Amino acid sequence: MKKETDEEIFAKDKNDYLHVFSRYSIVIDHGDGVYLFDNNGKKYIDFLAGIAVNVLGYHYKPLVDAVSEQAAKVMHCSNLYYTQAQADAAAKLVNISGLDKAFFGNSGAEANEGAIKIARKYAHHISHDKYQIISMWDSFHGRTLATLTATGQPHYQQDLGPLPGGFDYVHYNDIDELEAMMSKKTCAVMLEPIQGEGGVHVPNDGYLQKVRDLCDRHKALLIFDEVQCGMGRTGDFFAYQHYDVKPDIVTLAKGLAGGVPIGAFIVTDDVAKAFEPGDHGTTFGGNPLACAAANVVLDTIPTNDFLNNVKETGVYFKQKLIDLKDKYPSLIKEVRGEGLILGAELSKPGRAIVNECMERGAIINCTAGNVLRFIPPLIITKENVDELVDILDPVLAANL
Ligand SMILES: *Cc1c(COP(=O)(O)O)cnc(C)c1O
Repeated sequence: MKKETDEEIFAKDKNDYLHVFSRYSIVIDHGDGVYLFDNNGKKYIDFLAGIAVNVLGYHYKPLVDAVSEQAAKVMHCSNLYYTQAQADAAAKLVNISGLDKAFFGNSGAEANEGAIKIARKYAHHISHDKYQIISMWDSFHGRTLATLTATGQPHYQQDLGPLPGGFDYVHYNDIDELEAMMSKKTCAVMLEPIQGEGGVHVPNDGYLQKVRDLCDRHKALLIFDEVQCGMGRTGDFFAYQHYDVKPDIVTLAKGLAGGVPIGAFIVTDDVAKAFEPGDHGTTFGGNPLACAAANVVLDTIPTNDFLNNVKETGVYFKQKLIDLKDKYPSLIKEVRGEGLILGAELSKPGRAIVNECMERGAIINCTAGNVLRFIPPLIITKENVDELVDILDPVLAANL
């Protein structure tokens, strides 16, 4: 493959790729550890990780080896046959989650779509009008019609109606509003334990437990979308383990296969009974290539050493962000998050700061307009944090 210039690639993209992303003007060539390199050889420290996907960084040898070996054996064979890679990955997820059955799709949206479907079937067996799914304002659950309906951000739903019915919204962290909304019609409450895309919002003390209690009282299922906050990001494998509240269904994707497309939903045996053969399916989901990658990630992240490192680095990083807030109080309003999902809410839009960091060799992200969001590879070190802060600090100073 002949290497083209940035301009050639931009031109082709403009002509031929459906314009749905506002992209930054760099062409990524390759990655190594926590660094990305562009087409011109410029190096960037990466605190976005492909949106919380590249949990083991780039060119992580055991992951590259496992994918290469599996690709040489068989990449795909359909779900009409068994593979050891898939059976292993399911067993690992069941073991780590404390839930009972796992299903694999190809993305976060598909994982959530499956979770909504199985919840609806489960509730239908109790009562035909038990179909209400309650989700949160400012949530993000994906881009399929059902998951963007669950996503409590009207701009994603604009002009796409009629949307699937039976979805209602309440404000995250407002337990009274949820209580008032729930009834015997409630099929499930669906939420991210930590809201990612909506601006890194963390649960108030006791909130998730109270949501659990309300679900139990109304015989509704509790669905945690851990597509972003799971996979060790909080310093526990699942965020719900961090907050000690167990859901009936949990969904994963993003980091699960370290960069290979995958999604999963995991359910209790009680919920699993709602589906019979034929009720759900997928051509690609959980194919041996994706599962071989997931198996490496699932052997690596849920170890005490790995998770303790996430916790420690997270505490160190959060303190550095709080120091920056103290230094620039008019610019940084609040620092939030847990482990290595951290946010700094600004008093103004963050895009210029993201751009200037990129120019200086650091990739960060801004979400919800004014929240700098940090979701780096989980292998970052304190030295990497210092490196980022050395770039971020003068950029903040220049943007007061
Ligand atoms: C990214 C994300 C999704 C959607 O995942 P896709 O793989 O883009 O479909 C769903 N839920 C949460 C919390 C996410 O962060």
